[in-house]
Formats: sequence, C-alpha cells, structure tokens
Amino acid sequence: MVNEKMYALGSKRSSIREIFEYAKIRSAEIGAENVFDFSIGNPSVPAPEPVNATIARLVQTMPSVELHGYTSAQGDKSVREQIAANFTRRFGVPVSGDDLYMTCGAAASLTITFRALAARQDDEFITFAPFFPEYRVFVENAGAKLRVLPSAPQTLLPDFEALKAAISSKTRGVLINSPNNPSGVVYDEHTLQKLADILTEKSREWGEPIYLISDEPYRELVYDSDTFVPCPMAYYADTVVCYSYSKSLSLPGERVGYIALNPKAAEAKRLYAAICGAGRSLGFVCAPALFQRVAAACDGLTADLSVYKTNRDLLYQGLTGLGFTCVEPRGAFYLFLKTPEKDAAAFCANAKKYELLLVNGADFGCEGWVRIAYCVKTERIERALPLFAKLAKDYHLTK
Ligand code: PLP
Repeated sequence: MVNEKMYALGSKRSSIREIFEYAKIRSAEIGAENVFDFSIGNPSVPAPEPVNATIARLVQTMPSVELHGYTSAQGDKSVREQIAANFTRRFGVPVSGDDLYMTCGAAASLTITFRALAARQDDEFITFAPFFPEYRVFVENAGAKLRVLPSAPQTLLPDFEALKAAISSKTRGVLINSPNNPSGVVYDEHTLQKLADILTEKSREWGEPIYLISDEPYRELVYDSDTFVPCPMAYYADTVVCYSYSKSLSLPGERVGYIALNPKAAEAKRLYAAICGAGRSLGFVCAPALFQRVAAACDGLTADLSVYKTNRDLLYQGLTGLGFTCVEPRGAFYLFLKTPEKDAAAFCANAKKYELLLVNGADFGCEGWVRIAYCVKTERIERALPLFAKLAKDYHLTK
C-alpha cells in the first residue's frame, strides 16, 4: 500500500514537464532544430564566471572533509552572515545570519515556510492568479489550502478588494511572486505598500500576524533601467523571503537558496525555530555545502541577462506586431499571451501544428492565456516568429 496522494503526484507529470518531454520525443523525430520548445524555465545562459572560479578555488584550498562535510542544519554560519550582510546592504533591511536558513532552492524555501506557518487544520494561504502551479503542491503538503484570487485583468497585479474580502481567521499568509512566473509582471512600491496596509489592518482585526511570503527566484531578472524590484520586507515586517540562486546564477540543478526572516517580525524567534523544525521534519537540513559557499561568494551577481532582454524585446515586439495581445514582461523570462480564442488548449494544439510548444495558462490559474518561456537561444525566437505569423493568420489577426 502506498500513500494515494503521493502516488497521484508522482505518477502524473506537471503539464509543463509533459510538454518538455514531448519536445524531446518530437526532436528525435524531426530534429531539435525544427521544434520550438517554449515550455520550461531552464536558464539558457551559463553561470557567471565567478561561479566556476569559486568552485575551483574552494576545491583547491579547502580541506575536502570540511568542504564536503555537513554544515549546521540551517547552513554554514559564515555563509549566512555573508549573505545577510549583503541583504542588509542591498535592501536596507537589517537581517543577521541568524535570520537566514539555507535551502535547496525556492521549492524547499516555500515548502519549509508553509510547513512552519500552517498551524491549524483548515489554515489557508492566499495567492493571486496567475501563479506557479507547484504552490498548490507545497501548500497542501503542509496540510493547508491554497486559495487563489484573481488579479486585476489589465495589469495582472493583485486585486486588493478581492484580497480584503478573502482574508479571514483561517489566513496564515499571502504568497506573492515578483517578478512573476508566468506573467513577467513586477510589483512596484505602490503595490507592496498597499499589500502591507491591508495585511497590517487585517492582522490587527484578526489578532495575529498574517505573513507575507515572497517567492523571489527571479528577483534580479529585470531588463529596463526604470524597473525596480522593491524588497517586500522594507514595507511589511511579517515577511518571509523565499529566495533561490537557480535563475540569478543559472544554477537550477545545484539546489541552493535561502529563507530570510525579518527580525522585527512579531514572532521572529519562534518562527525561525519553526523553520528549523520544518526543515528538519522534511529532511531539508544542510543545503549542499559546496554550493552554499559558492552562493555566499557570488551573492548579488547574475548570469548575462542581455540574452533574455534581447529575447524579450524580439518576442514581445514580434508578437504584438502580429496582432497578439501580450502583457509586456518587465522581468523573469516568461511572456503571457492572451489567446485569440477562448479555448487556450485548442490554441496550444494549433500552435503545436507549427511545432510551437506553449503552456496553457489554465495551469497557472488563468483561462484564455498561454505562457511562452523565452529562456532559449535567440535564434529560436527569430525562427519561431514566422511560425507565429502563420498562427496569427489562422486567427485572422491584423495589427
Ligand atoms: N517559484 C517559482 C515562481 C518558480 O518559477 C520556480 C522554478 O521555476 C520555483 C519557485 C522553484 O525554484 P527552485 O528551482 O529554486 O526550487
């Protein structure tokens, strides 16, 4: 006998991975150069040079037993201190190494955080559509419920009135993701202030803190000089930042990130202990030791983001030029396109006829949209645009 819930999760791939696997099969049939796989958010640019240099330095200079040995469960102390000092300097919110917990990427950061916060049987976490589909898996694993609210239809920013109406005594936290997967939307200062005001008022009303959980794997991935990604902790004390180096340093396979708490949070010490407990109970202690040290040395650096910017510009201009309606992505490496027919599954099927592999927005909680991951070689976008032109023609789009 096995756990039915886990069986269901493990025996069915996510729809993103289904398409990703289909792309491999199709590539073997007609050649990879003829398949346009825009399914998965795997960084397409190499890690920045200091990553390799740091690995080489660490391997050459640190005794192997120390380098590859267990660190403290919450992460190496000097690693946490270094990252905390950078965090304080970059975002102006004082945090110490004792407010940081090193993790195996954002997935672990989130899973641990939900487990640490979910306290009662029918606790809820609120998020806004569109959202990263794994949130539901992570929240439900903590025995809580994910409640999905709509975003404002034009901007895809949170619908504040819906949030006010939805918060109840069951609400343990509100989960945000900016820059956003799948929309590329970035929350500005006004949005964070508004969220902070609502959460402050509602925390008072319900007599306990409602946490803001900020999922930030794309924090550094923005492309315009006027796009600023504010740190939510600077607006709201009861914030938990879930960070990952997967995208900023192009290290998704190395599994490294962190959880940062604001020491000014109402229950900071107890929450930190609960995070350590959740990490322990989930088996997420001692994030990969070598890559903790690489992260500390390279924190704040990024891979070469110019390719993503080139791709973003080409794709956004190309698609809107063909008459498609898209949200202009300000960050991350995804473009969200409104499908010209209501049925996004049918649109994806039509796109597939031209070997364009897109992900249905319904998977992200938004009907009538598709996601295009543009973390690919620029040549892929250039060659895909004439195919999108054929697709536009099928729908009689004109600009
Ligand atoms: N959150 C979002 C919004 C993501 O897009 C991803 C990965 O694509 C994750 C979390 C998980 O990131 P990680 O690879 O660091 O676990």
